Amino acid sequence: MRFDVITIFPEIFRGVFEFGIIRRAVEAQLLAIHIHDLRDYTADRHHMVDDRPFGGGAGMVMKPEPLFRAIEAITHDAPQTRVVLLSPQGRLFNQPLAAELAQDERVLLICGRYEGIDERVVENLVSDELSIGDYVLSGGEIPAMVVVDAVTRLLPGALGCEDSAAQDSFSSGLLDYPHYTRPAEYRGLPVPEILLSGHHAAIEKWRQQKAMEKTLRCRPDLVEAQHNQKAEEILKDKKDLKR
Ligand code: SAM
Repeated sequence: MRFDVITIFPEIFRGVFEFGIIRRAVEAQLLAIHIHDLRDYTADRHHMVDDRPFGGGAGMVMKPEPLFRAIEAITHDAPQTRVVLLSPQGRLFNQPLAAELAQDERVLLICGRYEGIDERVVENLVSDELSIGDYVLSGGEIPAMVVVDAVTRLLPGALGCEDSAAQDSFSSGLLDYPHYTRPAEYRGLPVPEILLSGHHAAIEKWRQQKAMEKTLRCRPDLVEAQHNQKAEEILKDKKDLKR
């Protein structure tokens, strides 16, 4: 899989992609990341990427010309590229969406700055707008890092143990179960006895219970969403039977 990132601050990405799972995925050629400086696609002496908004108002807007040029240059040999604008107005990025992106061969991430980008770019070249949460950040660079990281974990072979992504929070619709490691007792705090028992089936059951307890306590909306989905499936099956 290949990620392209368009940004006015390419240096921000230095370091972030050079450690841990992302670095290993790049080394194993499961992943390629190309960072593009938007200023390389400007045609004026000052490499301007922003201008004042038509109609007045606060802040600056990212100009369309450099973005059109950059997106067209990067995607011209790969028209199937998913062109993603990071935006607080976008669809909320979550684990199922990360899994969807992990199926793509090419994803281009556009990092906005200032008040955002000229709407003509969004209307004509962007296929998806993604938000990492209902808050406003100063730029799309941190959201781009979030997307690359979450998607990379789901690339086959990227994690040492294939199971670790499947058991992660949200993958099964619930939060992850609690984890413990050695020592078995620390400062008088023991790990749950069941984990030392060697009974795999009982441990699995305990983990499922703990995952459900934690989800009900911290994210009851996830359980509700699952129930709603189940109900929808049942209703659909009922309709299909009547036909
Ligand atoms: N005026 C815009 C609005 O209210 O919708 C906010 C612009 S924000 C200051 C600048 C850039 O940061 C955006 O163009 C976007 O690329 C990025 N950004 C900010 N918050 C984000 C979020 N929650 N998710 C994804 N990108 C975000």
